[in-house]
Amino acid sequence: MQQGEPERVYSMVSDLIVNYRLDKIIGVGEDIARIGTHFPGKFEMYPKTEDLLDALDPEQFTNDLILITGARPFGFERVVNRLQQRIHGTTLEINLNALTHNFNFYKRLVKPETKMMVMVKAFAYGGGAVEIANHLQTMGADYLAVAFTDEGVTLRKHGISLPIMVLNPLEESIDLCHKYALEPVVFSPEFFKKVNQYCEVNERSLSIHLDLDTGMHRLGFEEKHLVELRELISKSKHLTIASVYTHLVGADEELHRDFSLEQIHSFQRMKSELEQILPQSTLFHALNSAGITAFPEYQFDMVRLGIGLYGVEVTGKYGSSLRSISTLKTTISQVKTINPGETVGYSRKGVLPQGGKIATLGIGYADGYDRRFSNGKGYVLIQGKKAPVVGNVCMDMCMVDVSDLDVKPGDEAIIYGEQISLKELASQIGTIPYELLTNISTRVKRVYYLD
Ligand SMILES: *Cc1c(COP(=O)(O)O)cnc(C)c1O
Repeated sequence: MQQGEPERVYSMVSDLIVNYRLDKIIGVGEDIARIGTHFPGKFEMYPKTEDLLDALDPEQFTNDLILITGARPFGFERVVNRLQQRIHGTTLEINLNALTHNFNFYKRLVKPETKMMVMVKAFAYGGGAVEIANHLQTMGADYLAVAFTDEGVTLRKHGISLPIMVLNPLEESIDLCHKYALEPVVFSPEFFKKVNQYCEVNERSLSIHLDLDTGMHRLGFEEKHLVELRELISKSKHLTIASVYTHLVGADEELHRDFSLEQIHSFQRMKSELEQILPQSTLFHALNSAGITAFPEYQFDMVRLGIGLYGVEVTGKYGSSLRSISTLKTTISQVKTINPGETVGYSRKGVLPQGGKIATLGIGYADGYDRRFSNGKGYVLIQGKKAPVVGNVCMDMCMVDVSDLDVKPGDEAIIYGEQISLKELASQIGTIPYELLTNISTRVKRVYYLD
C-alpha cells in the first residue's frame, strides 16, 4: 500500500470484493477493519495472525473456495497449513501471481492491439477453470475458450462475463449456448446449416466462430468448402461471425516450421476470400502459445494462449521467462524399513537389493499421479532431495525411496512444481506436460495464492 492513501486503496479493495462476489471476508490487521464497515455481517476481523489462528475452526469450511492473501510478515502460510490439516494430504497450489506474470509475458510478445484469448478448457489445464477465469477477467483477457458447452455454462454460473468460445459444441447444446451467451465454433457446412436453422426457427441470433482446417484434420472447413461457406454466410441473417481461425499442428517443433508456414499461408488465402463478405469487426487468429513465440509476425487480430499461461514454454525459446504456476504436493503417511530381499507394493515390483527405507505418500494414479511413474521412472522431492518411486504406483498411494533421508509421517513431498521440470517428467514416461497437468484429479484440493 502506498503511504498516505489508504482510503483510495481500501475503496479499490471494496470494489474487488463486490466483483469477486465474496461470501465472507476475514481480515487481519488494524487498518483493514475499515473495509468491514462497508460490508456488515460478512466481515470478521483479527488484530494479529495469531488471533485468527486461535479462533480458526477448519470445520466451518466445506466446499468453500478460500483465497488467502497478505504481505509476507503476516505469515499466512500458517493459516493455509491449518486449513489443509483436515483435508487429504494432497493439494495443488496455484500461484495466481505467477499466472499474471505469464499472461503479461505473452502480452508483451504481441502488439498492443492484438487481443488475447485464453484457453481454459479441461478445467483450465487442471488448474481450476472458475478461479483462473475469474483472475483472467480481472487481468484484462479479451476472450476465453472452452472445449465443451458445459464447461462454458459452469463459468457463466460463476459470474464470468467475458465472451466464451466453445471449441466442440454438440448440436444438442446450441440451445444452452444461446441461453448462456456462449459462442460455438462451427466447423462444417452441415453444422452451419443446423445452427442457422436453430436460429431461424427460434428467431434468435447467435455469435459463432469458424474453424478453418489447414492441416490439423481434426475439425474445420477445408478450402474446398469455401464457395459453399461464403454462400451460407451471405444468406444467414441470424449469425454473427465473431471470428475465423485455424490451428497449427506443430508450432512447437522446428521440424515442422515449413508445414506451419504452409498452414498460415493457406489460412491467409481463405481469409482474403472470406473478408470480402465479412464485417470489419471479424477477428482472425491462428497462433497458440508455441505459435506466439515461433511466428510473432502472424498474430492477425488475436492469439490463443494455452499451455504458456500455465507455465510451460513448449518451444524452449523462452523457457526461463515463465513461472511455474502450480505445485502438486502431498504428505508422507508412513515410513518403513525394508530388509534385503523384501519387496514393495503390488506384483512385488519394488525391490531394494540392499534393503532401505521407504515413505508411503498419499497420492496415487486416481489423483493423477501417472502409473507410468512406477519403478523409478518418477521421483518426488522431499526436503529438496529426489526420492524415486519404488514399485508400482497404487490407486491412492505410492512408495518412494527415502533411504538417505531423515523423514517422518506428515512431512511434505513435492510431486510437480517449480523445482521439477514438467517437460522432463513428461518425456520420462512418453507423454507431454499437457497430459500431466490435465490429469490431476478434481478430488485434489486446489489452493490459490495471490499476493
Ligand atoms: C488447446 C488449443 C489452443 C491452445 O494451445 P496451447 O498449445 O496450449 O497454447 C489453441 N487453439 C486451439 C484450437 C486449441 O484447441
